[in-house]
Amino acid sequence: MNRKEMIYKNDPALIQGFLEDTSNIKTGHTPGVYFPDNVTDVSKLLRESAASGKKFVIAGNGTGTTGGRIPFGDYVIAMEKLNWIEKPVTSDGNKAIMTVGAGALLEDIQKKAESFGWLYPPDPTEKLCFIGSTIANNSSGARTYKYGPTRNHIARITVVLTSGDIVDIPRGKYCAGKDDTFHLDLPFAGALEIKVPGYNLPLTSKHNAGYYSTRDMDLIDLFIGSEGTLGVIVEADLQLIPIPEKIISCLVYFSTLDDLFHFVDNAKKKTKGVDPRALEFFDCNSLGFLRKVYPEIPANTAGAVFFEEETSQEREDETLEAWFELMERFNAMTDESWIALDVDEQRAMKAFRHELPVQVNEWLSTQAESKISTDMAVPDTSFIELYNFYRHSCENHGFRYIIFGHIGNAHVHLNILPANHDEFITAKALYHDFVEKALELGGTLSAEHGIGKLKAGYLVKMFGNDGIQEMVRIKKILDPHLVLNMGNLIPEDYYQT
Ligand SMILES: Cc1cc2nc3c(=O)[nH]c(=O)nc-3n(C[C@H](O)[C@H](O)[C@H](O)COP(=O)(O)OP(=O)(O)OC[C@H]3O[C@@H](n4cnc5c(N)ncnc54)[C@H](O)[C@@H]3O)c2cc1C
Repeated sequence: MNRKEMIYKNDPALIQGFLEDTSNIKTGHTPGVYFPDNVTDVSKLLRESAASGKKFVIAGNGTGTTGGRIPFGDYVIAMEKLNWIEKPVTSDGNKAIMTVGAGALLEDIQKKAESFGWLYPPDPTEKLCFIGSTIANNSSGARTYKYGPTRNHIARITVVLTSGDIVDIPRGKYCAGKDDTFHLDLPFAGALEIKVPGYNLPLTSKHNAGYYSTRDMDLIDLFIGSEGTLGVIVEADLQLIPIPEKIISCLVYFSTLDDLFHFVDNAKKKTKGVDPRALEFFDCNSLGFLRKVYPEIPANTAGAVFFEEETSQEREDETLEAWFELMERFNAMTDESWIALDVDEQRAMKAFRHELPVQVNEWLSTQAESKISTDMAVPDTSFIELYNFYRHSCENHGFRYIIFGHIGNAHVHLNILPANHDEFITAKALYHDFVEKALELGGTLSAEHGIGKLKAGYLVKMFGNDGIQEMVRIKKILDPHLVLNMGNLIPEDYYQT
């Protein structure tokens, strides 16, 4: 190994940050952190692991919510130096490809794409994450309603396996055929046969829990969303689309939740010809947090919907008219609502949306207990049942809580904000009931944040013993010495059987 070139740090003061993400897990520990600055370094590091017995955790930028990057005795591979962002290359006039290193910041990628007139659609609320992590976690955001998750926008990845093999996986090159099996022949690992998992995924419009599975599956989709358990993603080709000519953004308030939910339902059915790219929800408690910074939020509101539609200069008035008609039909508080038609106003509206986690985190920093938050989604038809279950459970316990997020995908986040340790314990127990309820309704344990270490135990509830064993089978083919991101997704005791 070219140790002279690869930086390695083990001074506790310098590596403390690698023991954290936003999950509030505080017990991580590591012998040290490697900082590869090229793909070969990653390959050498992993290739030696069989002999050295070293285990590794991959570190992105630490914004993950599930403890996925936190080491428990493992060495850390920091991805930050693999941060190249190449110029977009037009592929067919209407699309472009941009090659990026896994450690490039999403925010920088989006800015660079935009400076060339292109849009990279995935937009997780948190922009200070690395692109490799968003691929490993199949991240989503508000625009996922129209464009789907990260998976839909990745044309190629390069992955380093624990054998040291550097595998280039363009979409379409390795597809499971009639035998539902991927066939690989690699320099170090040799011939590998990986059967596609046999389980079905939930019928939700977003899902990010466990290895992907579908008919005629592409190998790239096995790695996307696998949370770093199958290999280190080192580079990717992102699929870009032209920046829309015009966008309409609006934050609209409602005085009853009934009207709000009917409005969302009809927006999804494209009633009056509307065609949203984002549909996001804020309950009245979320608005209460935001009112500290935005006192103009009306007092008598039950909740708000943020929507966006892509249009053109020519169609702008027609698009607005369609939305106004829909707002009127469902008794929206149109006069108090906020419509943003130019880039500056839209930036201000984005800041409004980003202010919610800021305010909640600020409040939490004054409290002794951390929040309990959910990331479940259900099929559209079950959304209101899950929503009411969340709400009534919190109100019965007298909890302080907020509900917000991606209502277009029947995926809202509930955050319980415990006032004391007793409430924290009760809320933690209640989390089990929320999981049970979401699964009973045909939903998913995680729609976007993934499983990490925090929720691995719950993944068993979702997929059962047989489903987890299918994941173990795949993990053992691609990582036979169980070296990489152990404890993520699959509870460790499942490797014993
Ligand atoms: C305020 C806030 C809002 C958020 N909003 C959203 C949202 O709207 N949608 C959403 O999907 N997520 C959201 N997230 C979660 C988080 O931003 C994403 O999960 C993101 O992908 C994490 O990126 P990171 O670089 O910080 O990764 P880290 O936290 O460092 O790591 C995350 C996981 O990815 C693995 N990993 C990192 N790099 C690689 C790689 N190159 N190859 C393989 N595995 C790798 C790590 O081992 C770990 O398991 C939010 C987080 C916060 C704090």
